[in-house]
Amino acid sequence: MKLKAINGFKDILPDQVLRWQQVEQTARDIFERFGMREIRMPILEKTELFFRSIGEATDIVEKEMYSFPDKGITMRPEATASLLRAFIEHGLHVQQPVQRLYTIGPMFRHERPQKGRLRQFHQMDVEVIGATEPQVDAELMAMGQMLLNALGLKVSLEINSLGCPDCRPAFRTRLIEYLKERKDDLCEDCRRRLSVNPLRTLDCKSRGCRALVQEAPSILDSLCSECNEHFAGVEHTLELLGVTYTKNRFMVRGLDYYTRTTFEFITGDLGAQAAVGAGGRYDGLIEQLGGPKLPGIGFAMGMERIVLLMEQQAESSIIKPAADIFVAALGDKAAEYGCVLVQNLRALQLKAAMDYSGRSLKAQMKQAGRINSRFTLIVGDNELTEGKAVLRNMQTQEQETFALDGTINEQAGRLFSTIIPTSIEVDGIKMK
Ligand SMILES: [Zn+2]
Ligand SMILES: [Zn+2]
Repeated sequence: MKLKAINGFKDILPDQVLRWQQVEQTARDIFERFGMREIRMPILEKTELFFRSIGEATDIVEKEMYSFPDKGITMRPEATASLLRAFIEHGLHVQQPVQRLYTIGPMFRHERPQKGRLRQFHQMDVEVIGATEPQVDAELMAMGQMLLNALGLKVSLEINSLGCPDCRPAFRTRLIEYLKERKDDLCEDCRRRLSVNPLRTLDCKSRGCRALVQEAPSILDSLCSECNEHFAGVEHTLELLGVTYTKNRFMVRGLDYYTRTTFEFITGDLGAQAAVGAGGRYDGLIEQLGGPKLPGIGFAMGMERIVLLMEQQAESSIIKPAADIFVAALGDKAAEYGCVLVQNLRALQLKAAMDYSGRSLKAQMKQAGRINSRFTLIVGDNELTEGKAVLRNMQTQEQETFALDGTINEQAGRLFSTIIPTSIEVDGIKMK
């Protein structure tokens, strides 16, 4: 039997990794411009953490978690709960009243695998803890927008407010009343969760429910004055920052802990309308997890979807990194020399390669081409005795004699200075 990766788990092969690295590096760069600091948490957490944060009556906790019940532990299905657990455990708020944190890594959910959705998937997660001002909400959205733009992606931003513990219960009651009267038209899922999680009906994908909620009461009409003012502040700041958005009163969260601002970055380019990023405010969650009474807001972006979108939308193609120099050695003495030379070149931070199999010059030149080497140094046993080798520029096909004077280290240094000015020039052209 052939061994294969598990369904829903996927290898990311070297050519694809280039795209992933581009996403991660761009994200780190932009996050850090906004004062975010990286934090890394373990993948396994006590199952209890997700009961208490995500909520037991959610799809994630009910059916999607990879848990080891005998050990009481679970592979994290999302990052916020773990991050807040770490935040509370280490008392990070004592160091600095407002913490801006980000993390990048794999999450695990037992869902039906489909395009852009895997069972091990990767997220970039950002959280700002300790600030309640609407400017912070808008700034986070602007940051997400900046990142997606920097990656060459076209997405739209949708926002909503979910109110707070003061005003949401009243809305919830009104919504349940409305839905109960039309119970027969609800899909099976929505009927089941009518009393536990009625807000989910608002973003149910089934056609019947979608038609039915068009006339449902709007959460935006039910906000208390504080929530109203907060939401107006978010909108005002988005306008100041020139971030385009639309209000979507049907946007809710599958997670119980969200309050006030919620937002999503949406694309229509992955089949159905899909979110590449989603987030919101969770002002009661830290306290609910046994931490200090602090507000928080964050978002997560799905890296699989971003990479898929980039393949579809982005005009720039990935430039494969080239090796700087390939040493083609012919003969035993030359091979020994090449081995040491390559080591010295690498110590000088050059990407240097050679082939140890003793193949023909033609085969070795082919290999140099395959790794996209910019230069090849050709050296045989005879040349070694005569103290000279041939340096070939693989782009121009020009060849020059390279004198093997001095120690190997000195030779490496001279090769370095011959190659590097060209390298910078080449990279300069590629940058444009
Ligand atoms: Zn409120
Ligand atoms: Zn439904």
